[in-house]
Amino acid sequence: MFRQVKRKTTGRRNFEESVSGDIQQKLEGLYQHRLSFYDIPPLQEITLEDFETWSIDRLKLLIEIESCVARSKSLKDIEASIRPLLLKYLPMNSSGDACLRERMKDHYSHFILRLVFCRSEDLRKKFIKNEGILFRIRYNLLQPKEQQEFIESNSDKLVWKFITNEEKLDKFDQLYNASGLLIKNTLMNDNPGIEFTNEQIKTHIKTKENFIKLPFEKVANLVSSRSIYLYQGYAYIPSSLQLNLIATEFQDSLNTMLLRTFQTLPRLEEDDRILPLLNNLSSNFSNIQYDNFNNIDPSLVSDINHQSIQTPTIIQHYPLCSKILQQNLSLNSHLKYAGRQQLGLFLKGIGLNVDEALKFWSIQFTKKISMEKFNKDYKYNIRHNYGLEGARINYKPWDCATILSKPKPGKGEFHGCPYRDLSVDNLITNLNELGIEDQHQINEIIDDVGKRDYTIACTRVFEITHAKQLNQQQQKVAEGMHINHPNLYFDRSRQLERSLEKKEASV
Ligand code: SF4
Repeated sequence: MFRQVKRKTTGRRNFEESVSGDIQQKLEGLYQHRLSFYDIPPLQEITLEDFETWSIDRLKLLIEIESCVARSKSLKDIEASIRPLLLKYLPMNSSGDACLRERMKDHYSHFILRLVFCRSEDLRKKFIKNEGILFRIRYNLLQPKEQQEFIESNSDKLVWKFITNEEKLDKFDQLYNASGLLIKNTLMNDNPGIEFTNEQIKTHIKTKENFIKLPFEKVANLVSSRSIYLYQGYAYIPSSLQLNLIATEFQDSLNTMLLRTFQTLPRLEEDDRILPLLNNLSSNFSNIQYDNFNNIDPSLVSDINHQSIQTPTIIQHYPLCSKILQQNLSLNSHLKYAGRQQLGLFLKGIGLNVDEALKFWSIQFTKKISMEKFNKDYKYNIRHNYGLEGARINYKPWDCATILSKPKPGKGEFHGCPYRDLSVDNLITNLNELGIEDQHQINEIIDDVGKRDYTIACTRVFEITHAKQLNQQQQKVAEGMHINHPNLYFDRSRQLERSLEKKEASV
């Protein structure tokens, strides 16, 4: 994607140059905390490889958050989905050798994505919303002491002050009377099923609650709720309300900075190395491709052959698009070109080798045509998909974005994405066949379709049809749940089945 030779331009630094002690010191100051307001842009050069992988890793997190929000998940549920992804893509250890590089990755990836998502109002809104949620989740993951240090280090922006323990005890009655109920509700939300007595709440406030105070005009909305204590022009805010305030501050400042980035963007237009990447990333928020095809574990696909792929045991793992193609192939003993490509490459992706593919397609097609005609008209195309003919390109299965970019199916065609291409009635019939009968769930899926969020509708269907397994395996499958590829749907479904089988066998 990028020119591999480096440009040596007068005045430009090169990333091989050793990091001077001065810069090192500045970086350490900048990366003192595990969370950041990202108000200082990166200063050092990084490789193009880091530029690309760091931004893609952060984007994966934001896509997952976007998908969770679209499925109306609570912050707690989003946090549960995001935690394993955070460990994988954006780890933020509090100490250790990798610490500095992890914080650099976080810092640079945020600024790279600012370049990507500053380009239109819609992209800016999405970025601010998802980064805001990421900020909240990561703030919650900090230890209370780290939260306090982080806030104190940003006191210039936040005009916040933590009150001392003496002040808290001195104003204890007033603080309890104003915010006690709110603190009680928060504790009960965080600990479902546990009742807290007033005495327990008082002890909690005395020993654990950290109040901040700030000018009351900064929190006019909270003043009207009468759940905070006001004294001499200051509002006293308990921990449970602090996250909202700090996240709002973060989002407001990000909004201003994104607009500034947008104004400076034209200066980047001359850089032919990073521009293609930025354009590529901003073209579609769900552009990150599932790509697991070069390292398929043979033991996991040993049961995939021309016979098994026609059985319910395997077909039950197909997403709706592949199911419909398979059904119509069996029904008509034929599929037109686009359908053959979509299904053929999907089957290749699930582990069907070329010999088995030739058997599968020939058995289907020769119910209506002779073997001779099949060999003449279709065999070449199947071998071509496996890189055995023509330019010998090893073609990859189509992802949802590719499928959705193709023309809609015409009469007698069955390729495409059913969430986009089927009529509402027809889609509902298909959902019923998948076992989705609950009207509320059907309405949610149809709502996604109405908003053209087809992959979100598909992810929702996955969640509903795999609810039992997901509940039992919460931790594992939370990772990378958003479906943006038919083969991802298949692989996740099979992984779930396998891990449950393993669990049952070990009991
Ligand atoms: Fe297939 Fe993707 Fe549409 Fe799901 S969203 S049905 S995987 S094309």
